[in-house]
Amino acid sequence: MAKQIAEMLIESVTMELPDTKTIRLKWPEGYEPDFKTGQFITLYWPDTPAYKRAYSLSSCALDRGYYEVTVKRDGKMGTRIVDWAKAGDTLWVIPPTGRFLPVFEPPGKHLVCIAGGSGVTPFRGFAREATRRQLDTRLTILYSVRTTNDIIFHEEFKQLEQENERFDFYVTCTRLHPDDPWTGRRGRITAEWVKEHVHDLPNTVFYACGTTELVEATEHLVLTELKLPKEQMKTEKWG
Ligand SMILES: Cc1cc2nc3c(=O)[nH]c(=O)nc-3n(C[C@H](O)[C@H](O)[C@H](O)COP(=O)(O)OP(=O)(O)OC[C@H]3O[C@@H](n4cnc5c(N)ncnc54)[C@H](O)[C@@H]3O)c2cc1C
Repeated sequence: MAKQIAEMLIESVTMELPDTKTIRLKWPEGYEPDFKTGQFITLYWPDTPAYKRAYSLSSCALDRGYYEVTVKRDGKMGTRIVDWAKAGDTLWVIPPTGRFLPVFEPPGKHLVCIAGGSGVTPFRGFAREATRRQLDTRLTILYSVRTTNDIIFHEEFKQLEQENERFDFYVTCTRLHPDDPWTGRRGRITAEWVKEHVHDLPNTVFYACGTTELVEATEHLVLTELKLPKEQMKTEKWG
């Protein structure tokens, strides 16, 4: 049953932001998948089986009994999920796949995770798993949002930072009003900002998730500026 496409009940929904919703999909009886944190599932509605879209898991592989995905209102599927999906609806789910996986083995790596907007979703899974397993992996999220109102999972990331001294969550805001009281960083993600957080280059693995623009800019930084081999860079392009 594990590799089967399954119809799943939406058990609950959570509005993370006015345009971003997490849906929790309940595994059916006997469904015991073998999957990894960082993978994505593919969803379609029962009435439109030809229209499928991929969503990164925002839950982690230690979360059993359900999948969570966090979706932004964008396009047809994004809008339908954010504006209309409710508890009790069902969606068809193609099982997790993908190679955007946290390198927890061998131990001692530093994972530098770069995200923009909703691209932060798989990194909640990374942070949850590293914290719950008390891994010695170091994890740094560098997250770009327009304003402080656009930070997804802010509370949970702050909480995980408290629980896990090897986890750091940094936000940069690109479109804040100059009078805003935010004391954190402002402006886009730059090479200098990323370099500030890298302390052991050979043991660092970079991750970039989100728009093609953000992912390609990060690839340029890592492969061309820092001159690191492709093995130290993992990307998930959403288009
Ligand atoms: C591996 C992977 C993981 C992903 N994970 C996530 C995730 O965790 N969360 C998430 O929110 N998304 C995620 N995505 C993106 C997701 O799969 C969809 O691409 C996204 O939800 C939009 O799909 P859609 O069918 O709603 O968009 P479509 O309707 O196909 O539209 C695509 C884009 O075109 C624009 N567009 C559509 N019609 C027009 C028009 N007439 N004129 C101008 N612009 C138009 C839309 O605004 C949208 O930006 C992921 C993608 C991949 C590949």
